[in-house]
Amino acid sequence: MDIAAELREIVPDGVVTGREGLIPYTRDASHFQGAMPSAVVLPSTTEQVSNLLKYCGQKGLAVVARGGGTSLTGASIARADAVVLSLLRMDRILSVSGEDSCAEVEAGVRIDDLNLRLSKTGHLFPPDPGSSLAATIGGIINTNAGGLRCVRYGTTKDWILGVEAVLMDGTVLRLGNRTLKSRIGYDLTSLIVGSEGTLAVVTKAFVKIVSKPESVARLLAYFNDIESLGRAVAAVRASGIDPLIAEYLDRMTMDAVESTGTFKFHIHSQYVLLLDIDRAEESLDRYVSAATLTLKGCGAVEVVATRDRAEMERLYTARKGAYSSLLRLRKTEHDAVVIGDIVVPPSTLPSVFRRVDELVKEHTIRVALFGHIGDGNIHANIFVDMSDNAERERVEHFHEDLARTALENGGSVSAEHGIGMEKVSLLRMEYSYRHSERALGLMKELKSVFDPKGLLNPGKVFD
Ligand SMILES: Cc1cc2nc3c(=O)[nH]c(=O)nc-3n(C[C@H](O)[C@H](O)[C@H](O)COP(=O)(O)OP(=O)(O)OC[C@H]3O[C@@H](n4cnc5c(N)ncnc54)[C@H](O)[C@@H]3O)c2cc1C
Repeated sequence: MDIAAELREIVPDGVVTGREGLIPYTRDASHFQGAMPSAVVLPSTTEQVSNLLKYCGQKGLAVVARGGGTSLTGASIARADAVVLSLLRMDRILSVSGEDSCAEVEAGVRIDDLNLRLSKTGHLFPPDPGSSLAATIGGIINTNAGGLRCVRYGTTKDWILGVEAVLMDGTVLRLGNRTLKSRIGYDLTSLIVGSEGTLAVVTKAFVKIVSKPESVARLLAYFNDIESLGRAVAAVRASGIDPLIAEYLDRMTMDAVESTGTFKFHIHSQYVLLLDIDRAEESLDRYVSAATLTLKGCGAVEVVATRDRAEMERLYTARKGAYSSLLRLRKTEHDAVVIGDIVVPPSTLPSVFRRVDELVKEHTIRVALFGHIGDGNIHANIFVDMSDNAERERVEHFHEDLARTALENGGSVSAEHGIGMEKVSLLRMEYSYRHSERALGLMKELKSVFDPKGLLNPGKVFD
């Protein structure tokens, strides 16, 4: 029997092998072109996942787990012929308990679908990547995704109580449960969070949920210089306003957003800072006034606050669509957008912004900047003509200099998008900068304990 037939024995109605069916799996949301998988398998149960991994392990077949395929670093595509294991059919919300502040969900549940369900009982799952429409629980766990609400709630790792995960030999691990704390030896759940599908395949998770904020106002503060914006972010953080989200867009990103017709900004400025402030209804206006004063004191040329639901929704959609809007600015089919994803302590933002500005000019490249600025995360969206070797080299040098700037300011080369294929050398740069290469060695040893044959998502995170 051939491999396809044997895979069908395990998942009778969920094996794709036709060329047209496989092509979409050669790409994710990054600029990388992956290899054609040998098959895509869509299991519906943990038992099928276990049998699949056991089979692939015995045959020596590489396996790439895949959720929404929205990775921006090439993490969810195969580098060479592999079996793609899509979790999208495992999309059940198994239980929701407000009393326990917990939901039990399968790995293929999309983040927006979970939040739609939770909103019916006044609850919220805080991690909120811009890709929440398509990104899945398994994907955000494996990338330790951040997103818009990190400034208040932190990243995905802070919201995972436990996972069910399957090892390459088919063993099913049940780590953690629905309790809000547990001390049960080494924290293997946390080890799996952010492991980019290289240690195990997540099939289920217990996630923490919170009550939805009572009343929210959305503020737009317009700036003409980036250092003032950086100071404003630091001042807002120091003031105790504690925003729910704090995002910024530069002029190129605002133009891209406006060109889609989603939102028209109130004035023409170089930058805009988007803040959500939530409080009890009776005190919200007071906090909005205090924030407005703080922002103007830092040099905002205009501050507009809205509580109009439709306008707030349009603005949120516009921000979440910022990356997709920028893709429209590519000039030819050879153009790609490479994303720098650094993070620095928020107090260093004014000087980091100054340095980034210098680097863009030094390397003569086209860059649009936006990001989750409230927690010091800067996304540099770098346009590159892939057919122009000189430009590719300039972009690579910019990328490295950007990463070095983050390290020199006490930050990191990768904030939230993960390592994937794209940031393997930057990961080495970070540990070498910290004189901690042994940490990378330990990670490789752990990888070989979990996956001795190196079959799970090979070529990601490490060479
Ligand atoms: C428009 C846009 C906006 C984005 N905004 C953000 C943002 O604000 N913040 C942010 O952090 N990221 C963002 N991203 C990046 C991306 O959406 C996130 O990394 C997201 O977590 C990926 O989820 P996914 O389900 O699409 O995972 P995939 O892309 O399918 O996979 C990502 C990684 O997880 C692994 N994986 C997936 N499912 C499993 C599983 N069940 N078990 C084991 N491994 C698995 C894959 O092998 C791969 O290594 C954005 C992407 C886009 C396109």
